[in-house]
Amino acid sequence: MTRGICILGATGSIGKSTLDVVSRHPEEFKIVALTGNHRVPEMLALCQQYQPQRVVMASPDAAQQLQMLLRDAGLKNIELDSGAEALAEVARMDGVDEVMAAIVGAAGLLPTLAAVDAGKKVYLANKECLVMAGQLFMDRVRSRGVTLLPIDSEHNAVFQCFADGKGVRRILLTASGGPFRTWPLEKLVGVTPDQACAHPNWVMGRKISVDSATMMNKGLEVIEAHWLFDLPPAQIDVVIHPQSIIHSMVEYVDGSVLAQLGNPDMRTPIAHALAFPERMESGVSSLDLAQGPDLQFEAPDLQRFPCLALAFAALKAGGAAATVLNAANEVAVQAFLDEKLPFAQIAAVVESTLNDLQPAAPDHLDGVLAVDQEARVVAARHLRRYVSASHG
Ligand code: NAD
Ligand code: MG
Repeated sequence: MTRGICILGATGSIGKSTLDVVSRHPEEFKIVALTGNHRVPEMLALCQQYQPQRVVMASPDAAQQLQMLLRDAGLKNIELDSGAEALAEVARMDGVDEVMAAIVGAAGLLPTLAAVDAGKKVYLANKECLVMAGQLFMDRVRSRGVTLLPIDSEHNAVFQCFADGKGVRRILLTASGGPFRTWPLEKLVGVTPDQACAHPNWVMGRKISVDSATMMNKGLEVIEAHWLFDLPPAQIDVVIHPQSIIHSMVEYVDGSVLAQLGNPDMRTPIAHALAFPERMESGVSSLDLAQGPDLQFEAPDLQRFPCLALAFAALKAGGAAATVLNAANEVAVQAFLDEKLPFAQIAAVVESTLNDLQPAAPDHLDGVLAVDQEARVVAARHLRRYVSASHG
């Protein structure tokens, strides 16, 4: 029986890797719906190649442009919509059995929750969902009884090594340390967006690339792991492993440490999740340990990577601190990518926002969205302070 799949964020890095894996197994999957935001030529190419039933562009302008191009290409049968509500609609539509949640940032929360509420099987790449609304999200996953499988390489690795979770002493999330691990601290002030996005081991979207360079990505992943594996912060450790061959580890009370290894290619965790509990071919080459680089490990330097410390602090603080952290980080990273905020001030904007706002944990979605919005306003205010400070 073919499985109907919807890919939220199909034009992105995870979206395209998912399509690569899925297209290796045409007998297994039917691509029912694809979503994007602005990237019209990319979505047109995906429509030509995969002929989905429905497409949603978050941007109405982009949808309008795509409409004409689809007509010119003779693809009039593809149903095209735009806007946030349409994103949620395709995530819960009939004919979709499984949803790849690969939108970047807070924009992914509502469509991913829509998929959960509709009882779809969910593959979760959009870690920001869990950082923003972990309790609420996991409550809904449990109450709907849906299968949630982690795509983030570290969480997928932990999942593969976790068994039933009995006797786990701690998990060790590995981190490459990003492009600036060995740079002199004073040089970080002048870092450009292209330098921050040039990750040594992974090709990813720009937001997560910047998060990797600040190590906020690992901080978000610590929070993601807390919710996925129901572990307190004291049982979640981070170790720097610059080669990105070991994707994470689980240590048991008897001293056993299980690790998952492989070449750094997101098609491995994607194929693992799509096939689970079976296995499927992903197109990823064999790991050649004899020819490969030496594997190194070191403790993260929290002075170099203050964002990692901020994320741990937000998780320990509880309430809605993680929602504030995520929103402030999105604002700061976007300002850095727009060349309005120096790289070294991303952490300062996040920290100042966390200091200003300590909301209690909201018990409903509107409360989470309100905290997210408020944190964006406060972060934008701090941003102006740092921007003007850096210009004079
Ligand atoms: P990307 O920037 O390459 O792609 C993002 C996708 O989201 C695109 O399809 C884009 O059109 C869509 N999008 C962006 N803003 C949107 C909005 N406002 N509304 C609707 N859609 C929108 O990002 P990516 O690297 O593929 O990452 C996607 C998610 O997966 C992120 O949450 C990231 O943290 C996570 N992730 C990525 C990787 C990786 O290797 N790329 C690894 C682990 C986890
Ligand atoms: Mg990761």
